[in-house]
Amino acid sequence: MDSGVDIPSASDGNSRANTATPSLKRPRVVIIGAGFAGLAAAKGLAKAPCDITLIDRRNYHLFQPLLYQVATAALSPADIASPIRSILRRQKNARVIMGRVVDIDVDGRLVTLENGVAEPYDYLIVATGARHAYFNHDEWESVAPGLKKIDDATDIRRRILTAFELAEVERDEHARQALLTFVVVGGGPTGVETAGAIAELSRWALARDFRSIDPSEARVVLIEAGPRLLPAFPAKLSDEAASALKRLGVEVRLGQAVEECRADGVRINGRDLAARTTIWAAGVAASPAARWLKAEKDRAGRVVVQPDLTLSGHPEVLVIGDTASAMTVDGKPVPGIAPAAKQMGQHAAKTILAALQGRPGPGAFRYRHLGSLATIGRQEAVADFGWAQLSGRLAWWLWGLAHIYFLIDFRSRLTVGLQWLWSYVTYRRGARLITGGDDSGA
Ligand SMILES: Cc1cc2nc3c(=O)[nH]c(=O)nc-3n(C[C@H](O)[C@H](O)[C@H](O)COP(=O)(O)OP(=O)(O)OC[C@H]3O[C@@H](n4cnc5c(N)ncnc54)[C@H](O)[C@@H]3O)c2cc1C
Repeated sequence: MDSGVDIPSASDGNSRANTATPSLKRPRVVIIGAGFAGLAAAKGLAKAPCDITLIDRRNYHLFQPLLYQVATAALSPADIASPIRSILRRQKNARVIMGRVVDIDVDGRLVTLENGVAEPYDYLIVATGARHAYFNHDEWESVAPGLKKIDDATDIRRRILTAFELAEVERDEHARQALLTFVVVGGGPTGVETAGAIAELSRWALARDFRSIDPSEARVVLIEAGPRLLPAFPAKLSDEAASALKRLGVEVRLGQAVEECRADGVRINGRDLAARTTIWAAGVAASPAARWLKAEKDRAGRVVVQPDLTLSGHPEVLVIGDTASAMTVDGKPVPGIAPAAKQMGQHAAKTILAALQGRPGPGAFRYRHLGSLATIGRQEAVADFGWAQLSGRLAWWLWGLAHIYFLIDFRSRLTVGLQWLWSYVTYRRGARLITGGDDSGA
């Protein structure tokens, strides 16, 4: 982006009706989304001569890679979420607004919130992430929830733990088996990690706590439509992940697409599999940002951006993280993972800083792949660094250390580290609470 971006004066923006900001003299940078990408952008502009408004529909930043641990009762929601205000409390040029963005006027340079407030900007960073996609079967969402938000994780945790409770008092053998069958759809990292964690929960954490059922006999079925698990990893690691899951007792079904999800099970290859709990880990779609921006989008709904992450024809608008469809220098799509989102946030901050200082920007975004990690269970993980591939115990320790390191604040690092240590030593899970169900009659 060149430095000659047309920045409207403060009075231009403030003259609009119903805007939230009082008088602001410096250029206004609005960032939508306080995920990995948006926060990295905000932090990258900490010393910039501008006023930043960070808008998020939630009041916390969520560490999504560990959501499945909340869903499987290993961690509590607060362990993986940190208040956005607290993260930015020392950054004097940033203010935080909790609100849901519903539209963007790129010509008028206004972001509209659900409550009708319009927030003017000179530079805009859109970092609203992605959500799950059900391949045109949105009706499956209620019976096969996906993992994206804290509420999804506590809902799935409730479904899993409730299934064991109901099985304990169920007399009908067929119904009991359906209650003790857990289907995970999608063999990417989230599906693999979730299936492994449910198997561990049933084999160890719950094994001795029931009297009528044996939780360790629970059936965990992982279904993947493609020919192998973890398609983004080398084939050797996919095979190792499948073997490790099988050792845990997970039934891995490859090359089988789910044709229907119902409350009583799934249909695969024309056959019904009775299961009272199905978890969706199969697809993602970008947030509606492309619609707001009236921009070109790819098949997953992500906004197609210029090599420098700006929107075509709008050098003052940058789209980053899971919302953006960006390419690496060798023409491959930048993956939808946290390190990529962070790097895009840092790049966006450098681009805007250069423009504010009237010097040339960094130009095209260059993604540096630091490696891919996925854990399968206790002492089992796979790691691909390109130059080296690891599996088993060493990969597992690396996975744990990397996740603790990347957690956003010291409190989370400490609590997650202690929880994991406790679970490692005792084989137990500390967050086995059934919450959010209908207990109004109690
Ligand atoms: C279950 C799961 C497991 C994952 N595991 C891994 C992993 O192991 N390793 C890895 O690298 N990556 C993993 N990922 C992917 C990684 O989490 C994402 O790539 C990353 O979060 C993308 O960052 P982002 O900032 O683009 O979006 P997000 O982190 O999703 O942040 C988007 C933010 O925008 C806000 N927002 C959205 N819409 C609006 C709106 N209309 N108005 C206001 N605010 C809005 C949201 O509240 C959110 O805070 C996982 C993802 C999931 C869901």
